Amino acid sequence: MPLAREAVELLVQAARAWYFEGNQHGLRDREWMALRFLSRANRFSRTPSALAGFIGATRATASQIVKTLESKSFLVRKPSHEDKRSVVLHVTAQGEKCLSQHDPINHVVNAVTALGTDECIRLRDSLREVLNHLDAAHQRLDASICRDCMFLAERSPGTGKGRATAEFMCRLYRAPISLDETELLCTSFERTRDRPRIEQHPNRARAASQG
Ligand code: SF4
Repeated sequence: MPLAREAVELLVQAARAWYFEGNQHGLRDREWMALRFLSRANRFSRTPSALAGFIGATRATASQIVKTLESKSFLVRKPSHEDKRSVVLHVTAQGEKCLSQHDPINHVVNAVTALGTDECIRLRDSLREVLNHLDAAHQRLDASICRDCMFLAERSPGTGKGRATAEFMCRLYRAPISLDETELLCTSFERTRDRPRIEQHPNRARAASQG
């Protein structure tokens, strides 16, 4: 069997952990996907419409999923700081606990962790590269992180009125972005190949040394 096909077929077998019939611990696979996404999305993407785009559902289906998660106290809505007419979805402590204890992908995460850090990095980068190829072919990307986004700009020290911790700016939303936020998922992401990686940024080194 060609190596690439064998690798993809193994991926499909791994996917059985997160695509399943019925429910696990009271949630269907799409509800788990939504809870997982919202726990890692940035403040611009924790909206019903961004959620609908990420899980590949209609707004009506996404709204129903949000209601289900709210009814289980895994999610609350709060007014957006950026736009008072909009709501931002927040995963509650109970939702985070449920993810940490029962998320169906936890077994896969544990198996990947057992590979060791270097192998994890290689696997992550390979999968991201595969997704980038798929994006180019289908002209779509569900979500990715600020670190690799063309809209991320470094902030000059001592300028701006944003959050005290903000070290970057999002040029799309014209909003400050902290170093921690650069690791969160965003559905407005646009990939760039030219940006220096944030790991090489002096502030990253400082954060790591304080860590
Ligand atoms: S920099 Fe890109 S990924 Fe980050 S918030 Fe802005 S649009 Fe989203």
